[in-house]
Amino acid sequence: MSNPTYLWTPPPVPSLPVRGRAERAPVNRIFCVGRNYHAHAVEMGRPVDKAAERAFYFTKSPQTLVESGATVPYPPETKDYHYEMELVLVVGRPGFRVPVERAHEVVYGYACGLDMTRRDLQLAAREKGRPWDLGKDIEHGAVCSEVVPMRGFVLERGEFALEVNGRTRQQTDLSKLIWNVREIVADLSLYYHLQPGDLIYTGTPEGVGAVVPGDKLVGRVEGVGTVELTVGPAEQA
Ligand code: MN
Repeated sequence: MSNPTYLWTPPPVPSLPVRGRAERAPVNRIFCVGRNYHAHAVEMGRPVDKAAERAFYFTKSPQTLVESGATVPYPPETKDYHYEMELVLVVGRPGFRVPVERAHEVVYGYACGLDMTRRDLQLAAREKGRPWDLGKDIEHGAVCSEVVPMRGFVLERGEFALEVNGRTRQQTDLSKLIWNVREIVADLSLYYHLQPGDLIYTGTPEGVGAVVPGDKLVGRVEGVGTVELTVGPAEQA
């Protein structure tokens, strides 16, 4: 089947602009790290004991990707839509069972992301032992900046902040990650064959909170860039 025909138009390839390049980066999968800053784990009521636990992950559909600068509708079926500002790692080479000391080899670059979350649905699922999809896999809910190429570079420190309507709501340093970039790549690659175009949202620090229509979010990671999002009104029935 060199030239397949389709019943309907295939969905577009999700992709992101790349700083300094005309080509866009096609996006394969979107992985997200769960609790990865101590103070956020505590505010979520689930502290992390790194000596006794492994990192955990969830995924968002690539079709939920939204570029920085967008205005998105307030999503349906929630009354508690939260921001989570995160550093995003962009995978540029295949990797399976990558040792920590070679983790840098799969890094293409980094971006700034917002892991938008229907917190009420996520917590209800958590309490019932159900999957997180309705809370996390949200249309327009994976916001991402342009990709900044930094091939083979491990980002280990850098200030990191999110403002909502000009007021700082999240502020930390990448050095406070519980599992750092190398450890995440090594551990996630035990479960999955990492592929070019995989995005890894590395987790959010403390200070998560709700947004309402009209809110404007601006997140920054030192040495990477900025991500912006405007929350629009909910869609009418
Ligand atoms: Mn998150």
